[in-house]
Amino acid sequence: MDLKKFRRSAARRKGKLEAFLKKLDDIIPEDLPVLVKEADAAMWQEVHCMECANCCKTMTPTFRKADILRIAAHLNMTPKAFADKWLYKEEDTGDWVNKVQPCQFLIDNKCSIYEVRPKDCAEFPHHNKKPFDAYNDTFSNNLDKCPATFILVSKLMQKVERDYEW
Ligand code: SF4
Ligand code: SF4
Repeated sequence: MDLKKFRRSAARRKGKLEAFLKKLDDIIPEDLPVLVKEADAAMWQEVHCMECANCCKTMTPTFRKADILRIAAHLNMTPKAFADKWLYKEEDTGDWVNKVQPCQFLIDNKCSIYEVRPKDCAEFPHHNKKPFDAYNDTFSNNLDKCPATFILVSKLMQKVERDYEW
C-alpha cells in the first residue's frame, strides 16, 4: 500500500466524495444495502489492511470500559495502571483514547493485542454498520485516513451516479 499516493488521491477527491455522502443523507437508493455489499466486496479485493495499518498510525480507537478491563488483564496490569500509562479522557466526549500515535500496540505494522483489541478497532472501518447512511459523517471523516473507506465510497459514487436518477 503506497500511503503517500493514497493521501494525494484522497486530498484531490475528498470534496467530491464528501458531497456524495452528504447527498446520500437525503436521497437513499432503495437497494443501497446491496450496492454497499457489492462495492465493499470489490474494494476488499484491492485493499489489504496488513500492508496499510494507517488507522493505527494516524487515529485512535475509543476504549470502552470492557476493552480496558480485557486488555489490562491480557497485559497483566490493573485497569488503572493500564489507563494511566496509555490513555487519557477526552474533555469534550468523555471517551478514553490513546495518548500517542501511532498506537502503542502497533508493532512491525501489526496489532500486538489483536485477539483482545478494542471493539472499535475490530469494527473499523465500520462498513457493516446498519443502516450504512447513518454513518455518513464517520465515512466522510475517514475518507483521507482509510483507503478502504476511500475506495468503497468512490465505487459507490461511480455506481450510483451512473445507474440512478441522482
Ligand atoms: S489496538 Fe491494535 S488495531 Fe487498535 S489501533 Fe492499536 S494497533 Fe491498531
Ligand atoms: S481499516 Fe483502513 S486504514 Fe485501517 S488498515 Fe484497513 S485500509 Fe488501512
